[in-house]
Amino acid sequence: MLKWLQGLLSNDIALDLGTSNTRIYAKGQDIVMNEPTVVAVSRDHTGARKVSAVGRAAKEMLGRTPTGIEAIRPMRGGVIADFESVSAMIRYFIKNINGNRSLAAPRVIVCVPVGVTEVEKRAVREAVMTAGAREVFLIEEPMAAALGAKLPITEPSGNMIVDIGGGRTEVAVISLSGVVFANWVRVGGEKMDEAIVQYVKRRYNLLLGEQTAEEVKKRIGSAAPTEPLEEMEIKGRDVVQGVPKSVVLNSDEVREALAETVSSIVEVVRVSLERTPPELAADIVDRGIVLAGGGALLKKLDVLLREETGLPVFVAEDPMCAVVRGIGQALEKLDLLHEIAVN
Ligand code: ADP
Ligand code: MG
Repeated sequence: MLKWLQGLLSNDIALDLGTSNTRIYAKGQDIVMNEPTVVAVSRDHTGARKVSAVGRAAKEMLGRTPTGIEAIRPMRGGVIADFESVSAMIRYFIKNINGNRSLAAPRVIVCVPVGVTEVEKRAVREAVMTAGAREVFLIEEPMAAALGAKLPITEPSGNMIVDIGGGRTEVAVISLSGVVFANWVRVGGEKMDEAIVQYVKRRYNLLLGEQTAEEVKKRIGSAAPTEPLEEMEIKGRDVVQGVPKSVVLNSDEVREALAETVSSIVEVVRVSLERTPPELAADIVDRGIVLAGGGALLKKLDVLLREETGLPVFVAEDPMCAVVRGIGQALEKLDLLHEIAVN
């Protein structure tokens, strides 16, 4: 009876706290929240911070805020950069998915990148507790990505997963429910956006907003040549004259702008392959490499990685949601959670 009641009241969630996006999967349901990891805060006359918007609404304010309001990206390179804002954001999301009903405090499974310090891990756990969780479980991000990408992680064979997020690219080899090898760089989608901003400034004396740069990347960005050439009109501010102006950018230019960032991603994959134990490397030759995260959607990145490594490369289905779906699976199967939880 008590169990039944607990089940009814259960509002346990899986949380993917990404540098660019935060996603929540609710137990027994599905993905119930998918929003940019952005918080807008204002200060009152005493200097106290007040959250005025989170998620999509806050992202629209980036680069457009009046004095007194600040739009913040509280995660950097996969770790918490602004504890207070992260915690406030999670609290807001949890409240929101419950439709403001006051259910029991949820248990939360959240993933952390591999290679983060104990201090960084503790910050995640505490931010989630401060946001109102009853209990927090941590699992490693590549493990979640691999689960979400439907890789056979419990088998004794090597699976390579590459998660290209906003602030970080993580490569991991997983076998027997454990991360056997992991490697990462603090390079991801946001570096690509910055590279586009720099390129356009250098070449056209035009200052672009980072959101415009992101749009350019998604629409006409690629890692290898695409046919036919695509064009996009972009607007920004002229560096010299200080007035708004527009130019037309083509896909070759964007590829050139992205080249350096893309090659750091290729490099981290290559180095990881070199360092993978031979038995597992042999498995990867057969099974290939699976890409997850939003960066996996960059056009022709899979093609380029295939050329550079000579291995089969696949993009996971719905790559941006692989991590949250993977954590969601652990939430649904508690024996699996106990097998892979790291806290
Ligand atoms: P994180 O887990 O770090 O929050 P995500 O996996 O959500 O990151 O991926 C977000 C990144 O993916 C952003 O930098 C975004 O611009 C990028 N992205 C999303 N869609 C595309 C696309 N179609 N092409 C290239 N990059 C994309
Ligand atoms: Mg991610």
